[in-house]
Amino acid sequence: MTYPDTRLFIGGRWQDAADGRSLAVQNPATGLEIGRVAHCGRADLDRALDAAQRGFEIWRDLTPAERSKIMRRAAGLMRERADEIARLLTQEQGKPLHEAKIEAMAAGDIIEWFAEEGFRLYGRLVPHRTDIAIRQMVIKDAVGPVAAFTPWNFPINQVVRKISAALAAGCSMIVKAPEETPASPAELIRAFQDAGLPDGVLNLVFGDPAEISNYLISSPIIRKITFTGSTPVGKLLASLAGKHMKRVSMELGGHAPAIVCEDADIGLAVKSLSASKFRNAGQVCIAPTRFLVHSSIKHAFADALAAAARDLRVGDGFADGTQIGPLANSRRLAAMAEFQQDAIEKGATLLTGGNRVGDVGNFWAPTVLSDVPLEARLFNDEPFGPVAGIRSFDRLEEAILEANRLSFGLAGYAFTKSLATADILARRVEVGMLWVNSPATPTAELPFGGIKDSGYGTEGGPEALDNYINPRAVVVANV
Ligand code: NAD
Repeated sequence: MTYPDTRLFIGGRWQDAADGRSLAVQNPATGLEIGRVAHCGRADLDRALDAAQRGFEIWRDLTPAERSKIMRRAAGLMRERADEIARLLTQEQGKPLHEAKIEAMAAGDIIEWFAEEGFRLYGRLVPHRTDIAIRQMVIKDAVGPVAAFTPWNFPINQVVRKISAALAAGCSMIVKAPEETPASPAELIRAFQDAGLPDGVLNLVFGDPAEISNYLISSPIIRKITFTGSTPVGKLLASLAGKHMKRVSMELGGHAPAIVCEDADIGLAVKSLSASKFRNAGQVCIAPTRFLVHSSIKHAFADALAAAARDLRVGDGFADGTQIGPLANSRRLAAMAEFQQDAIEKGATLLTGGNRVGDVGNFWAPTVLSDVPLEARLFNDEPFGPVAGIRSFDRLEEAILEANRLSFGLAGYAFTKSLATADILARRVEVGMLWVNSPATPTAELPFGGIKDSGYGTEGGPEALDNYINPRAVVVANV
């Protein structure tokens, strides 16, 4: 199977780093090196900054219709090339091939939705207080060149949301995509290039994340920062952006509560939650992680969830029938072992899983732990892996208190047949996205993002464009 070396894309040209440096890319299912990715230095970043400024000056002056045409063409190319792109994604990230294809196809949907939404970036005419002849206009301008930092768990999805909203608003962008999984985001950029995007509007770099973010955020050319990743790194970048008075949006970690009420449809809850929990080997910021189950149904739910986890087929993403691939890197494997050991030492019961699978690649068995004490790390730090922890509750109020206990506020789930309970949960659970009686369905048209330590600046729905817009007032008096 072929896998390309990935180069930088600056000013409309694919190129090696000026000093020739590169990094190894590994297949997480085998641990073997499959290719290299260029590692940029300051000279490359300076060229990317210059290109992004020039690209911005061209792109902001196109009409929404002109932008939309190019974006829709890129969406079509992503769909046409989805099989080929999925093979790259599975090789570098490990997820099952069919999930990789869904991610590549979904990129088409996201680009297309934002291509349409760009038409609706209307300004306003505001009546003047004393003179009817004075025109007060609200104009929505693109913020400027954006620096985007995106992670390895959904190498296409995490970046396509940012690119699509930024382009629809008229911004240019320098993307620092993940060094672990560079080829699939590079194909996304290539789709825009082949669709006719002017040179410099999108630029792609890889290298040392801290060095790149420090350099780009400090540059006067960059007007806005967007990051997806862990909360500690998000806070670091937000403080740096604050120092330079740059606009920021942050899509950070979560620790999603899943509240299963006494009157829940247990079958539906298990099916929906196991799908949301174990997809992408649990390396999903919106995955349910704290399962809060009414004590009257805890045993039935826990047994059914453990059975569903046991049934999942773990293996190479290219093998027929694989439902769970490897973790993306060996750091995650070590993290799973630590979460598990800590929970058991503190009194949790292991219902299934809890072990590495094989000794090649980063495979971890889907794991369910019951009666997890509140002080266990699993109920405090984001597990970001295929590990589910269950606790019971007796009164709804207790479940709500636990759901809101942590500083995270990204996603939440609830299962109940009562409209009244659903309404209380909708109002009281502090999350940016709540799914009731449903698995996660994060489509382009819905807000996607968190509150509290999970970040700010949603990446879905019409509101996503606000991240890339400066509203300006222009008052014209006739003389
Ligand atoms: P990490 O915190 O080291 O890195 C997370 C991401 O941030 C990576 O893509 C990394 O390249 C980038 N990053 C790190 N330092 C940076 C810096 N100074 N400037 C710019 N980018 C920087 O963690 P990791 O080991 O790669 O991933 C583990 C944790 O990251 C998980 O536990 C999870 O909390 C979080 N994560 C979240 C998401 C998400 O979708 N929100 C995705 C991936 C990882």
